[in-house]
Amino acid sequence: MTPDVAALLEVQNDDLRIYDIEDKLAALAPRLAALEKDRRRADEALTQAKQQVEAEEKRQRDVQDRLRQHREMRDKSENLLGQVTAPREAAAAMAQIDQAKKFIADEERELDQLGQRLADLRHSVTDRDNAVKEIERVQLETRAALDTDRAALEKELASVSADRESKAKDVPRPMLQKYDRIRSKRRSTAVFPLRGKSCAHCDTAIPVQRHSTMLHTGTMELCEGCGVLLYAAEG
Ligand SMILES: [Zn+2]
Repeated sequence: MTPDVAALLEVQNDDLRIYDIEDKLAALAPRLAALEKDRRRADEALTQAKQQVEAEEKRQRDVQDRLRQHREMRDKSENLLGQVTAPREAAAAMAQIDQAKKFIADEERELDQLGQRLADLRHSVTDRDNAVKEIERVQLETRAALDTDRAALEKELASVSADRESKAKDVPRPMLQKYDRIRSKRRSTAVFPLRGKSCAHCDTAIPVQRHSTMLHTGTMELCEGCGVLLYAAEG
């Protein structure tokens, strides 16, 4: 292996570390996005529960109004019954009282059911409100942890990148450019040694003539099989 190739392999080591750090940085954002989605879902569930409470409260007020009217109707008819003397008028008042009592019984039953349902719904509002607060707490914690992770990764990235640039100065320009072209397409290892007379990455054999040139001059060749840069490890 020539000193140029050795220098290029040093650069490649740093590039692989850089890809790894970049991948870790890219993985941070989806964690926050997932939490944000959870939070939106929890917010919607809370809003829905609150709307259900409002709707049931409105029904409750309507039933209470009707109940009040029917109780007044009953009281009026009972008063009337105390005053009338004619049997027909008394019968009419009693019929009114029966009718009003039937309404009152229905409405009282409905109010009982509404009261039960409202208690359940208010309970669910409390639960969902707590769920939203819990997600907000986790979001804050996660954001803080991610910020710490991000800062550490960015610091590491800056340091490795600076190393990489200084090592790249030891590599001849055309070799570095060729390497950069291949690695930008692959975004992973771009330089492989020959294993015997074949590419160590894909096992495609190198033509005899090119193999002997590589051995004697230390040049690098593109693999015809997979397109990586090949160097002769021994010789
Ligand atoms: Zn290959």
